Amino acid sequence: MAKSKKTVSVMNEKSKSFLKEYLNTPSPVGFESGGQKVWLNYLKEYVDTTFTDAYGTAVGVINPDKNFKVVIEAHADEISWFVNYISAEGLIYLKRNGGVDHQIAPSQRVVIHGRKGPVKAVFGWPAIHTRSGSAESKDQQPKVENLFLDCGARTKKQVEDVGVHIGNAVTYADGFDEVSYGNYIGRAFDNRIGGFMIAEVARLLKENKKSLPYSLYIVNAVQEEIGLRGAEMIARRIKPDIAIITDVTHDSTTPMINKMIEGDCACGKGPALVYGPAVHNKLLAIIEKVAEKNKIPLQLRAVSRSTGTDTDSFAYANEGCPSALISIPLRYMHTTVEMLHKDDIENTIKLMYESVLALSPKTNLSYF
Ligand SMILES: [Zn+2]
Repeated sequence: MAKSKKTVSVMNEKSKSFLKEYLNTPSPVGFESGGQKVWLNYLKEYVDTTFTDAYGTAVGVINPDKNFKVVIEAHADEISWFVNYISAEGLIYLKRNGGVDHQIAPSQRVVIHGRKGPVKAVFGWPAIHTRSGSAESKDQQPKVENLFLDCGARTKKQVEDVGVHIGNAVTYADGFDEVSYGNYIGRAFDNRIGGFMIAEVARLLKENKKSLPYSLYIVNAVQEEIGLRGAEMIARRIKPDIAIITDVTHDSTTPMINKMIEGDCACGKGPALVYGPAVHNKLLAIIEKVAEKNKIPLQLRAVSRSTGTDTDSFAYANEGCPSALISIPLRYMHTTVEMLHKDDIENTIKLMYESVLALSPKTNLSYF
């Protein structure tokens, strides 16, 4: 097999430092404004105008005055926890805020976003020695009901005195890092990598002095993790003619994942295009052609019923908006060590960029 030739890097030093800062800024579901500020601050020089909506979805617009509207979209929120109950001994019990994984919680470091600012805490877990005492404690598995945070306080009052109260959001402390062979790790690449990639599309359009025959909305929606809610709100407001969504998907090549169910998708082999009823076939065909023309490697996935991403919100908004989903493969989704490959980031940016350039108000998306 011929060795593929080395492609020119899309990301530069500035964009990489933005990626790190953005990834390391907590943006729990419902409290995304921290990350949104970082994102808007990077995006603003590449767009003509920006706005935000009532719940914090952030939008940059190129050519705001055109009638035809195209959206490229990602989601800004990250899964997290909510403080739910504080015991007399000063231990803090939680509720999920999105699909946060209880199995990975024991011994993680977290940040409680308290009234007086960030409070450090840990998920305590009984020692292996003390667990062996009885059959009952031996096989204890982490569950929402038995997981607790220890912030160092020993009474309920001490917890309250550091500014923690019921309803505070809690995020894991782990951030961006790199491992070998071009792989990045961190928490919440789902879906801050999407926000990063759509911002890079805007940067490339600006730097390459491209003019578009329509309005391009670069949308970073809130509250995806609890039911695609931010996208629902902003789709109704913008009323786009076309939407291209980007989110993460599972690399199915690591152990304990069934390819017969999950399909075959791997990090490093390019963005994945999705077939499913919410995905518009003619729009999808345009994107596939763009990939072929630009020699961008592709993987294919199928979904039954819904895509489970903001694509559904855009597709079924208003009177129906032709939508497509470009996914980037990710290992270990919803853990603190989500892993993805740099080449896929670059290729997904290129695919979105070239797709945006291929669209126009004259693009025929009629099925008949
Ligand atoms: Zn997710």
